[in-house]
Amino acid sequence: MPNVYLVTGGTGLVGQGLAHTLATEPVGSRFGKATEDEEWHFLSSKEGDLRDLKETMAIFDKYKPTHVIHLAALVGGLFRNMKYKLTFLRDNCLINDNVLWAAKEHGCVKVISCLSTCVFPDKVTYPIDESHVHQGPPHESNFGYAHGKRLVDVYNHAYNEEFGCNFTSAIPTNIFGPYDNYDLEDSHVIPGLVHKCLLAKKNGTPFIVSGTGKPLRQFIYSRDLAKLFLWQLREYNEIDPIILSVGEKDEVSIKQVADAIVKAVGFEGEYSFDTSKADGQFKKTASNEKLMKYLPDFQFTPFEEALTESVKWFVENYDTARTGIKKASA
Ligand code: NAP
Ligand code: GDP
Repeated sequence: MPNVYLVTGGTGLVGQGLAHTLATEPVGSRFGKATEDEEWHFLSSKEGDLRDLKETMAIFDKYKPTHVIHLAALVGGLFRNMKYKLTFLRDNCLINDNVLWAAKEHGCVKVISCLSTCVFPDKVTYPIDESHVHQGPPHESNFGYAHGKRLVDVYNHAYNEEFGCNFTSAIPTNIFGPYDNYDLEDSHVIPGLVHKCLLAKKNGTPFIVSGTGKPLRQFIYSRDLAKLFLWQLREYNEIDPIILSVGEKDEVSIKQVADAIVKAVGFEGEYSFDTSKADGQFKKTASNEKLMKYLPDFQFTPFEEALTESVKWFVENYDTARTGIKKASA
């Protein structure tokens, strides 16, 4: 019997990165399908609401997965996280509780859940590593989302100790790429600013970046992250999480990100910072030392190249991309 891989959140940024990698990497290669006949299912919320246990169990009954990459989550950037703290906590706790329970009940061989560097404490020594997850409160701007995600690591250890389950997690830094949420307000910084910059170019209006531009972030391209998830699925055997990130030297300021977007979009108009808007956590510099010990030769796509591909994808797919704008075709 071939293995059956279920990707929750399969229609989103990371899920579609995985679908792309599986479609483009040769079968049998390290980041491709292991065998031609393995089955992959990419779930959308239209197939069932994972906040509901009955609907979640029905999905697992239907697909009978042997392995799960659990990406589904209520996801937002800084400003959406600040507005809906309880909803972020509750929805993500419900989704995670149901998916892990269903995976245990269905005897899944392995589950990888996706956390985020938001889980780390606000007051912490740098660089952050995997041992810091539970060592202090997260930044107040996103404590609902952060606590919901942190609990997954607690679940993984409890499932392992009580039932012997092989449930683990990945901690990616900020992610971007095709199929991102390009909403103008309720999105992450790269897709939000790409959309704003394209509109400023089209309408001859100023390009306004929220905050001071000083905070620092590490960005990983969704298609690189997909390769790392596939490696983790096949070769990583710890319950403890692993940070999936570019190195500390690749950390950039939001101003550097905005400059790169201006260049990738070809915007030549007025550009400024709205310092009345929040900066969020100043930095969450994460070490990828653990990852590099496992995969010392991994090649990350250069930031500008990945950004150019993402802008190109958004321009070419504007009519179907998530933009938060009602379109004539919708
Ligand atoms: P995304 O593009 O917003 O996609 C979210 C996915 O989850 C979609 O497939 C969505 O389905 C599904 N989903 C949401 N609520 C659901 C529900 N109640 N029931 C069933 N499915 C539901 O998110 P993403 O950026 O790919 O994020 C994937 C994972 O990476 C998440 O766990 C997130 O926390 C984590 N992460 C993201 C970032 C980042 O910068 N984006 C950084 C670190 C970690 P529909 O499309 O049908 O709505
Ligand atoms: P975070 O890493 O979880 O804080 O997530 P974001 O992707 O939302 O990045 C937030 C950082 O980018 C903060 O310093 C914001 O002030 C800054 N930023 C600048 N413009 C924007 C924007 O249009 N959207 C978002 N989400 N953040 C922006």
